[in-house]
Amino acid sequence: MKKIPSKKMLTEPLSFRNYRLANTSERNWDSFRNSAPQAYNDLKRQLFQEQGEICAYCEEHVPGNRRRIEHFHPKSDTASSHNWTLDWCNMLGVCMGGEYEAYSRPANLSCDSYKNHLIITGQLSEQCDHDLLNPYNIVSSENLFCFNPVTGEITPNEAVCNGNPTLISGQTKTTLDLVRDTICFLNLNCARLKDKRKKIHQELQRWLRTQRQKHRSASQAKRELAKRWFSQRWPSFFTTRRCLLANYAEEFLRNSNYNG
Ligand SMILES: [Zn+2]
Repeated sequence: MKKIPSKKMLTEPLSFRNYRLANTSERNWDSFRNSAPQAYNDLKRQLFQEQGEICAYCEEHVPGNRRRIEHFHPKSDTASSHNWTLDWCNMLGVCMGGEYEAYSRPANLSCDSYKNHLIITGQLSEQCDHDLLNPYNIVSSENLFCFNPVTGEITPNEAVCNGNPTLISGQTKTTLDLVRDTICFLNLNCARLKDKRKKIHQELQRWLRTQRQKHRSASQAKRELAKRWFSQRWPSFFTTRRCLLANYAEEFLRNSNYNG
């Protein structure tokens, strides 16, 4: 999971803004979608555009027909005076969580699909947003995750997490626990995602091999690859690539003023 630059209310799509201002008491997502399909599509398009077309949770590239909108704070919280359903700053573009892929389920569900599975089966509270890392709160200057290229697993980067024990005021868990629980509650280490991450490592190995044949050093090759990967906004499995290229990734991101 990578940082997403924080939103301002004024940046919401105009069609959605018009709907929201005309329907301030609307808290039913389905009735919004049904009565304002253009605003809904504009929302989805802009969310993914701002996220670099990748899922806010697993970072997989999401094709146009497999996108959905996740509310970080549950939209079912209708008791509060705040309208979470129509709050643009509460929305994330996410994938279908493996619902259409040839891997067993629920073991290979991920992202909000897996989180919903935990909620439906009573293993997680519906009001679980305080237990999860919000991509809008992630630091951009350091990497909160580590990657194991042999297993394909991501784990918390303990040194960075402990160096940033809180990401926002009022945070109830340490950052380390938040990252660990997020990986667990979104099932980011399911076999399906691990397999896909391992392919990124293989891509790196292939690149290094061809660059060696051209008599380029490993550091030259990695510096060049950082430029190729991170000049795109954004490559799938951004955090995996960032871990694999380590200092070369950090150098490129710092020099390009990366802020999510
Ligand atoms: Zn996802």
